Amino acid sequence: MDKCSFCGREKRDVNLLIAGIDGHICDRCAEQAHSIILEEMKKDSSFSLDGMKLMKPLEIKQFLDQYVIGQDQAKKILSVAVYNHYKRLAQRIDEDETEIEKSNIILVGETGTGKTLLARTIARMLHVPFTIVDATVLTEAGYVGEDIESLLTRLLQAADYNVESAERGIVFIDEIDKIARKGDNPSITRDVSGEGVQQGLLKLLEGSVVNVPPQGGRKHPEQKMIPVNTKNILFICGGAFDGIERKIAQRLNTKVIGYGAAKEADRIDRENLLQYISPQDLRSFGMIPEIIGRLPVLAHLDPLNRDTLRKILTEPKNSIIRQYIKLFELDDTELVFEEEALEYIVDKAVEFKLGARGLRSICESIMIDAMFHSPSEKTEKLVIDEEYAKGKLDRSSLSRLKAS
Ligand code: ADP
Repeated sequence: MDKCSFCGREKRDVNLLIAGIDGHICDRCAEQAHSIILEEMKKDSSFSLDGMKLMKPLEIKQFLDQYVIGQDQAKKILSVAVYNHYKRLAQRIDEDETEIEKSNIILVGETGTGKTLLARTIARMLHVPFTIVDATVLTEAGYVGEDIESLLTRLLQAADYNVESAERGIVFIDEIDKIARKGDNPSITRDVSGEGVQQGLLKLLEGSVVNVPPQGGRKHPEQKMIPVNTKNILFICGGAFDGIERKIAQRLNTKVIGYGAAKEADRIDRENLLQYISPQDLRSFGMIPEIIGRLPVLAHLDPLNRDTLRKILTEPKNSIIRQYIKLFELDDTELVFEEEALEYIVDKAVEFKLGARGLRSICESIMIDAMFHSPSEKTEKLVIDEEYAKGKLDRSSLSRLKAS
């Protein structure tokens, strides 16, 4: 009779008995062995969490470079923040009195400049549960909309409801600027989507145990709440903060009044005021000081210029153009983009003011016919030159954008 070489249970007494060369192991013992390994790994700091080696900031940035073009300052700040976050998770508090505090991050940059992409790329590298949530759906408890706690529902789902793993995850909160306090006097009417939400969010950012509805929303009032501790969850917030440049300019102007002001003002790059952003500006925009205090890492993203857009088209590891080439390759078609065609696509993206998101829609309009026909026509080689691109785009609905 086969039996487990570890606990001695016989085959009929276990769910599963796995045979090895010289013995057997039952499902229970295998699971127990697995948890012993996890325990040991936690103790040994050269192992990182989940058995992965912790990457150094420089390596994290190099990884990001493969997917995200430019945005060096944001990449650097993020790399350090993420490195510190994971170092602090690996730290055993009992041994060391100096507890490293969590540093949530806020990314400020125009829409389509890579905020979500940065957060997504980091999550891909770390293999931790990651979720993107939108701050615009949030309202104060008791009002129509979603409660703050529901932000964590998605994280729990991403972690397959493994609470322990969710508690080390990363939440990207998009459009954080939409919960800024509107107007300077919050007392006249209740600011349902503004300050109240910020107060609620504060609780999450600070680190506390919150009761999360596993299904989200309020549609399932009977659901049993799951307590989740947010102490070790890294929050990355992103927002465009439209119009914040004005606040930055105001601050810079007042600062440089006086002796030598003209000289100082000359050195300011007016095209990219975001690079001078400081926590004060977020406050002038309507974020409450407590929230700003809980988002100590502030990074800006640069606007995408023509040169950057051209690079985005072909350079990232999974760039749009590479994706099309791969798609066609799977049908045995060699797809070639001529440089002039690429330049044309970039020109159009600039003209339509669609940023990096526009690159994809323009490419889609150009490629749709070819993607439709070439699999059945068994095309061997397809060359996209400027004329082809222009011809397809002119006939698409996108070209109507020009009028606006
Ligand atoms: P945001 O969150 O800032 O509004 P996203 O990160 O969602 O913008 O960017 C939209 C898309 O544009 C991305 O999926 C990506 O394809 C492309 N993109 C934007 N910025 C960059 C960049 N710096 N490098 C590479 N691709 C980019």
